[in-house]
Amino acid sequence: MSSDETTVAGPTPARPDSPSHPHAADATGEGHAIVLGAGIAGLLATRVLADRFARVTLVERDEFAEDGGQRPGGTATRRGVPQARHLHGLLDRGRTAIEQLYPGFTSEMARRGASTAEVLIGTRWYVAGLRVATAETGLTSVMATRPLLEAVLRERTLTLPNVRLRSHTTAHGLVGTAHRVRGVVTVTDSENHTLAGDLVVDTTGRGSRAPEWLTRLGARAPQEERLEVDLGYTSRFYRRDPGEVGGPASIIISTGANGHGGGAIRVEDDRWHVTLAGMLGDHPPTDPAEFATFAAGLAGPDIHDIVTGCEPLGDPVPHRFRHSVRRRFDRQPVVPQGFLVLGDALCSFNPLYAQGMTVAAQQALALRDCLQVPDRELPVRFYAAAGAVVSAAWGLASSADLAHPGVVAPRNLRTRFTNAYVARAQRAAHLDPEVARTFLRVANLVDPPAALLSPRIARRILLHRNP
Ligand SMILES: Cc1cc2nc3c(=O)[nH]c(=O)nc-3n(C[C@H](O)[C@H](O)[C@H](O)COP(=O)(O)OP(=O)(O)OC[C@H]3O[C@@H](n4cnc5c(N)ncnc54)[C@H](O)[C@@H]3O)c2cc1C
Repeated sequence: MSSDETTVAGPTPARPDSPSHPHAADATGEGHAIVLGAGIAGLLATRVLADRFARVTLVERDEFAEDGGQRPGGTATRRGVPQARHLHGLLDRGRTAIEQLYPGFTSEMARRGASTAEVLIGTRWYVAGLRVATAETGLTSVMATRPLLEAVLRERTLTLPNVRLRSHTTAHGLVGTAHRVRGVVTVTDSENHTLAGDLVVDTTGRGSRAPEWLTRLGARAPQEERLEVDLGYTSRFYRRDPGEVGGPASIIISTGANGHGGGAIRVEDDRWHVTLAGMLGDHPPTDPAEFATFAAGLAGPDIHDIVTGCEPLGDPVPHRFRHSVRRRFDRQPVVPQGFLVLGDALCSFNPLYAQGMTVAAQQALALRDCLQVPDRELPVRFYAAAGAVVSAAWGLASSADLAHPGVVAPRNLRTRFTNAYVARAQRAAHLDPEVARTFLRVANLVDPPAALLSPRIARRILLHRNP
């Protein structure tokens, strides 16, 4: 047991030892940071904190045993991230952010079996029923399963000398006051422990209990914004002919007016990972024959060709995502020192737009930048920076969701204008490589949405006439 840990027999947590450096959360380069949850956001946050703190403890509920494929380098799907059984696309903005933290990430992924491709040249992209024009975008996709992606990040993170993983350990609450968090209560095999830390970072994902933990300390829980989409995913793997050369690295069929869409990406071990999606309760079935019928109804033939032409590996598996949720820590009048929330715990996006991992990576970079300045206002500065990153992605995702009439939410004039303009841009992108390129750069969070309004692109969009 380390010096900053106490064990408690009963349910009441003991007071922790004093944090080793009261202001170490203000980036003095010393002290102890604790990260809760070893998903993508937790690993990236740990990587950043390891540069600033003497020690970082990564607490994870799942067990990473030495065997059973759950060891740090293992690529088995684990219980804590059920979404890992579904297609996970990494936007180029996320890839380059991860490259900053783990140089050589893209080439390592390729070495481990991921496909990499120029985004539009390697992808057959269908929007509004037609294929988007092929164009050089300057962007790269890395296509792999989420378990491989996470394993590569986990291996790199756990080799950092000042990082320690505590798997099979559940975060159960915070220790401190409404003004200052000083540690965390964890449970391992029904035994409570209290771990003292100078900074606690919650990356426990969408199901984060941070609002409840803060309330228990007497602090205010953040307001939540939700957008109901009742999205269903059903995914299945297929064997890809290893001798097959050429062909696309991925196929994306964006959800059409009926809310149906799908994706297929070429992943490690010569497999296609196929995900079918349906919005507003109209979910893709798990019965194999009905799964194929759903694929046949998509606005492009390619995914159906894989589903009917390739050998299936395992059964179709479902996932239900009812709503996007954003927790407005950036709007809290007072936030406790020594505690941050990052990743899906801060904002969980509609997965259709593949933004979650990228925004988590952008937030990790924002945290890195905030830690450069040693002062006490770290949470306020972090939530402002993270809020800007989240707003950009949330704006794109929610306006795409609101284009579906069945999504119940108020639509103001701006939303209506945006949706009409984007629909026009999509039609132009089918034939105009310049518009397609800009569209993809915006969707990849590389260029701001305003790029679609630049005079040169706006002219091409507004003057475009379908043949
Ligand atoms: C169906 C689906 C598909 C998606 N597709 C994409 C995609 O294509 N592209 C993309 O970028 N994003 C996608 N996402 C989002 C993406 O999965 C997340 O945004 C991303 O993984 C960042 O999440 P996170 O690390 O914050 O949380 P998670 O990945 O959920 O990780 C949370 C971690 O915390 C652990 N944990 C939870 N509670 C506790 C506790 N009390 N104590 C200790 N540990 C705990 C969990 O075991 C887990 O390891 C998708 C999401 C869903 C639901």
